[in-house]
Amino acid sequence: MALPSSLLPTKIQNESQRPPSMYRGRFAPSPSGLLHFGSLITALASFLDAKHQQGIWLVRLEDIDPPREQAGASSAILKTLETFGLHWDESVLYQSEQSPVYEDVLAYLTEQNLSYYCQCTRAEIKAVGGTYQGHCRDLHHRNNNCATRLINGTATVNYSDLIQGQVYCDQDLAQEDFTLVRKDGLYAYQLAVVVDDIFQNITHVIRGCDLIQPTARQMSFYQILNRPSPQFGHVPLAVTEEGYKLSKQNNAPVIDIKNPQPALIAALQFLGQQPPSLLTNCSVSEIINWAIKNWSIDKIPKMQEIIPCH
Ligand code: GLU
Ligand code: ZN
Repeated sequence: MALPSSLLPTKIQNESQRPPSMYRGRFAPSPSGLLHFGSLITALASFLDAKHQQGIWLVRLEDIDPPREQAGASSAILKTLETFGLHWDESVLYQSEQSPVYEDVLAYLTEQNLSYYCQCTRAEIKAVGGTYQGHCRDLHHRNNNCATRLINGTATVNYSDLIQGQVYCDQDLAQEDFTLVRKDGLYAYQLAVVVDDIFQNITHVIRGCDLIQPTARQMSFYQILNRPSPQFGHVPLAVTEEGYKLSKQNNAPVIDIKNPQPALIAALQFLGQQPPSLLTNCSVSEIINWAIKNWSIDKIPKMQEIIPCH
């Protein structure tokens, strides 16, 4: 079956050197701010799940939205991860350096008639109920102040989540012809995340529950690109990106890189891992070693309700 050439198995990082069953996980923060307690939980869960299964754990910086980027955040995030004992196994991938791969996939989709240009405004889409109805599919716009959308014909709606069990996604949202390139020319999250998870040969995606709804679209995109999708597990979130205040309301410790142990212990508690009290006096690497050994994904609490897609 046809594939974009950048995503051919032979081009994918390390595929030739690894046994086919090897676990490859990742943490993919956006450098729009520093790590907070919520993102520490996600980073820790993806790391522990990989390491408990003798897997590879990668860090990818999703820096494709320069207007939302905070200066210095990328290096601060990496430093924080190291301080918390979350060491990655291969070089960090920066999405800002992936344009040739995204362009290759976009060219493939154009050639296969799987994408089209859309001129609709946010207000127009809102007027028809907020979900895009494929208005521009057959209008053959040229790329002039247009977004690029995927023809999302193979919509996946339900899937089995490693943490949440059977997940039922919103059907309209799952089937929407979602955006691959925004009107302002920036690559959309859905394009970059799926292409890079394929490019890095990721087998397991453990991330926050705020991304549960987009998972259905991402699974459809894997099908369209003729690649198997990774397994997904969504961890409940204590806080949101803007949730610095929320974390205070929840009494969640703010991340202090000078004293990482209390936040590490609190994150393990949040993940239902029941760290013994004597771990409190241990070093970061002792805590991490205990957590890798004793990791149980089944102990992670399920979320109370499905958080709407953003
Ligand atoms: N970059 C996304 C975020 O920080 C996460 C992407 C993902 O894990 O799929 O919200
Ligand atoms: Zn349109």
